[in-house]
Amino acid sequence: MVAKNLNFSKLKSSYLFIQIEQKKTEFLEKNPGVELINLGIGDTSSPIPQFISEKLAAAAIDLGTVTGYSGYGSSAGNPQLRKRISEVLYPNLVDGDEVFVSDGSKCDIGRLQILFGRDVTIAVQDPTYPVYVDGTLLQGATDEIVKMSCTPENHFFPDLSSLPRTDLIYFCSPNNPTGSVATKEQLKQLVDFAKQNQSIIIFDSAYAGFIQDPQLPRSIYEIEGADEVAIETGSFSKLAGFTGVRLGWTIVPQKLKYSDGSSIRDTWIRTISTIYNGPSNIAQAGGLAVLEPEGQRSVKRLIEQYMSGAQKLAVSLKQSGFVVYGGENAPYLWVRCEDKNSWDSFHELLEKSHIVSTPGAGFGMAGEGFIRFSAFATADDIEKAIEALAN
Ligand SMILES: *Cc1c(COP(=O)(O)O)cnc(C)c1O
Repeated sequence: MVAKNLNFSKLKSSYLFIQIEQKKTEFLEKNPGVELINLGIGDTSSPIPQFISEKLAAAAIDLGTVTGYSGYGSSAGNPQLRKRISEVLYPNLVDGDEVFVSDGSKCDIGRLQILFGRDVTIAVQDPTYPVYVDGTLLQGATDEIVKMSCTPENHFFPDLSSLPRTDLIYFCSPNNPTGSVATKEQLKQLVDFAKQNQSIIIFDSAYAGFIQDPQLPRSIYEIEGADEVAIETGSFSKLAGFTGVRLGWTIVPQKLKYSDGSSIRDTWIRTISTIYNGPSNIAQAGGLAVLEPEGQRSVKRLIEQYMSGAQKLAVSLKQSGFVVYGGENAPYLWVRCEDKNSWDSFHELLEKSHIVSTPGAGFGMAGEGFIRFSAFATADDIEKAIEALAN
């Protein structure tokens, strides 16, 4: 028999959403026939806009023709798509050859962790998206992970002056789960902090497309000098309903170097060509469609629809007496539970209102006392939730 990779023993026993599924199943066994209102998991529910789905279909059909067939592409992605991502989403900020297209942002975060190995030290926001921590632990990292508490008291931005130096700083804005977005001034502080400490920021911009306020930064590279200290990951998942199609990207700037002066970008190229063979050609055709003017208009409508659901839900929660954060520039509402802990509130919502939410404590200690509502629910579920809350 073969021994298990011992790093797995460092992970928390079960993934949050598996626990939630279990609670749902238990509830339904006791209450057969009850229809649950799902505001829990952060998965998209609206169909891909037709303009884009037709381009996906055309690319698939093309593969069945002699002239349209293609096999392996570049591990870094289709050069035309790399260029379009830089032009449309990072105008004058990033070069096409700094963009690396992939099968998704979470997968890239897992692979990025290879760049720094097991001796790395990291800081993450608390509450946090789980892969930053779990992926690091799987690499074999043993140093304590620094938690940057993000709560209403500090306007969801950590007090940097009290933090120790770490090699990497993971930062997600717009944030999952809190729905908060860092301002330009805050990101500038973060970039300055990384420069002083010679740290690298891994900036997760999966929800950049949901920012409504034009003053808020959609990319870390809007901060001058960030290309010397930051890697950014992005995704078509929430932007265009590609959670199942699978398409994302990572920006690794030319200027980013290891302490010995060698190029991180070159090492990234080596990594993806060694253990990855590039994203699906069909998915990439879909990505190109998203970045066409018609595609951009259609995803804007898609996002507006989710954000309007978020707004309606926020109003209804506030009317029911809840204190609500987020939901204005991100598809998540972060709701304070009055004098109850996260899991008790989760149960109460499930039992009294038949609403499935996500307990904030599942995202870290600083998430205790909060619950997350996802606006990726169907319009129907949002309406039902509003009705249930009113009663
Ligand atoms: C959904 C999500 C992603 C996207 O991951 P993909 O692998 O591209 O689907 C990345 N980061 C955060 C914080 C997310 O919530």
